[in-house]
Amino acid sequence: SLPVVAIIGRPNVGKSTLFNRLVGKKVALVDDRPGVTRDRREGDANLSGMNFRLVDTAGFEEDDAATLPGRMRAQTQAAVAGADVALFVIDSRAGLVPLDQEIARWLRGTNTPVILIANKAEGRAGDSGVYESFSLGFGEPIPFSAEHGEGLADLFDELMPHL
Ligand code: GDP
Ligand code: MG
Repeated sequence: SLPVVAIIGRPNVGKSTLFNRLVGKKVALVDDRPGVTRDRREGDANLSGMNFRLVDTAGFEEDDAATLPGRMRAQTQAAVAGADVALFVIDSRAGLVPLDQEIARWLRGTNTPVILIANKAEGRAGDSGVYESFSLGFGEPIPFSAEHGEGLADLFDELMPHL
């Protein structure tokens, strides 16, 4: 069966845009409003001939509870536990927010390898956010633009050893 890659991150960082970029437009719903991806969506992704099962998660999009476990839906935990690698997406234009740190802390407690994607990095507007994301503890981030398709070659190189 195909290796599994899960996309993780707080609302509005571009997870569904990344999913659509790798899988195709019809499967994941993308919307400006946080919380639009209500359910976990999966599809077969292709990146320069490398095939894997991609999971778009929305488990951090419930903010009705004050604690991370309260916000974390079981499907997101299951998606990361069942994945060969997690793509942790941050918004390099917005910079880091406390929820990014919480998600990072939680991901460090799992056994799943993490690749850090600093999305929305097209142009220069994301430069300081890309640099700031080093502090999350997952090594060098991939400067990325899901919208413009930038960073795909670096993502390929980072994914390859895990798949
Ligand atoms: P999700 O909530 O993490 O799934 O985020 P979405 O994929 O729904 O995207 C949230 C918003 O960010 C949408 O308005 C997207 O068009 C926008 N977005 C996604 N990727 C990029 C990117 O690479 N650059 C910029 N500038 N905007 C992006
Ligand atoms: Mg989404």
